[in-house]
Amino acid sequence: MDKKDAAGSHAFPGVQPRFEETLDPDDWAGLRTLSHQIIDDAVDYLRDVRSRPVWRNMPADVTALFEQALPRSASPVEGIYHELAENVLPYPLGNVHPRFWSWYMGASNFTGALGDFLAAIQGSNLGGGNHAAALMDRQVVNWCKEMIGFPVSASGTLVSGGSMANIIGLTVARNAKAGIDVREHGVAAMERPLRFYGSDQVHSCHRKAMEALGMGNRALRCIPTDVELRIDLAALRVAIAEDRAAGFQPACVIATAGTVNTGAIDDLMALADLAAEENLWLHIDGCIGALIAIAPENANRVAGIERADSIALDPHKWLHAPFEVGCALVRDASAHRGAFAVTPEYLEPTPRGIASAPWLYEYGLQTTRGFRALKVWMALKEHGVEKFGRLIDQNIAQGRYLSGLIKAEPLLELVAPTNINIVCFRYRPEGVEEGALKALNIEIMLRLQEAGIAALSDTTVHGVHCLRVAICNHRTRCDDLDLLVNEIVRLGHQIVSASPA
Ligand SMILES: *Cc1c(COP(=O)(O)O)cnc(C)c1O
Repeated sequence: MDKKDAAGSHAFPGVQPRFEETLDPDDWAGLRTLSHQIIDDAVDYLRDVRSRPVWRNMPADVTALFEQALPRSASPVEGIYHELAENVLPYPLGNVHPRFWSWYMGASNFTGALGDFLAAIQGSNLGGGNHAAALMDRQVVNWCKEMIGFPVSASGTLVSGGSMANIIGLTVARNAKAGIDVREHGVAAMERPLRFYGSDQVHSCHRKAMEALGMGNRALRCIPTDVELRIDLAALRVAIAEDRAAGFQPACVIATAGTVNTGAIDDLMALADLAAEENLWLHIDGCIGALIAIAPENANRVAGIERADSIALDPHKWLHAPFEVGCALVRDASAHRGAFAVTPEYLEPTPRGIASAPWLYEYGLQTTRGFRALKVWMALKEHGVEKFGRLIDQNIAQGRYLSGLIKAEPLLELVAPTNINIVCFRYRPEGVEEGALKALNIEIMLRLQEAGIAALSDTTVHGVHCLRVAICNHRTRCDDLDLLVNEIVRLGHQIVSASPA
């Protein structure tokens, strides 16, 4: 294609379009006023979070709004903000509320939200390059290494969350253990299929990772757990031996530091020894528990975490960064880069200028990357890592407090040992048969949600259905837990006494 054709202006060189548009406002002063209003409202929103319901169902006129057609023409941003303030902000998932304890999420923080805003204002692409945000991204990764005692020579990357961080670690593990150039030839060219091992409590993202990595779900062997819900080491050894005998290539142990069901922490020291003996990659899923390493009263629970080959951790959980930010760390920096680096002609580095720094996109799957580091950086500087450590200790102490309340309440029963900040229990009054307990407990959970009192989730531990409270929340207080227990007993009684049988 000749140059003039490529420019598309062969016939009229140098002629400007009749008018040019931009997304910038015509009225910067008006935008300033509105922005101040938005900030004021946001401060009030977070200050008053405790006085609102945790969650509420959306009325039909709200859900209908999201059926509106694609907007064709302009409308004033004041009106858009008004619409959102009326119809979106009052209907959150709820995880910033002090009584949200469902699944496992962080509770966000205002400074982090400012960080996200400013990251978008600066607008830098963290795929790489020579600029301040890229240096900050590397600094936050270095701080993550330091928090868990990983060597400075390790590498890492900020990703969307724990699931991606696990995929990064497992990809490097697969490539390192494949025995062939798996990037070039693919998994089908491997002589012996790889086997990965995790406990039966392993997070579902590992299954997705196995599937995405082309190894198939069966390449992940789920090993039974002991009464503490930790991987059974003897069973793991048996599985590895069986697999070797059957012609598989045992490749990687996925240890979990804080399982999503019960917060159980696998014996990391023993697994590091076993991985070394068996020549396996040790990946630690520390999405919940890796950061316990900064909590003075509990850090010993994750001793050994620094021995991993790769680790996934999740700053949007116990550092309460606004979503999304996860972090993958890999001990062998060249294995990490070797799993992802590709340098196409349009991204060749230059000796000076914007492209003179290493490309951060060479450590993962994304090319364009957001400025996720800023929200983590600002909050860590504001509070200091020691405070985040104390908040983790606080949540673990609250887990213990809630367990104590449950043990003291005859109508409630603990279903799994409380190890850290996750409490599994059920309402179990006299005279209700085992088979009816699940429906009863779900009904209690739904009434708590629908009344906006508290958000819990449920799960099944070693075959027993239960309610589950995961306290990853810097706003929770012990009196919130007192209220929870009282409300469960009240609602349970209400349901049982209203039911015919
Ligand atoms: C939350 C979690 C994940 C997934 O992390 P996301 O940030 O939700 O993608 C993986 N493993 C464990 C143990 C988790 O708790």
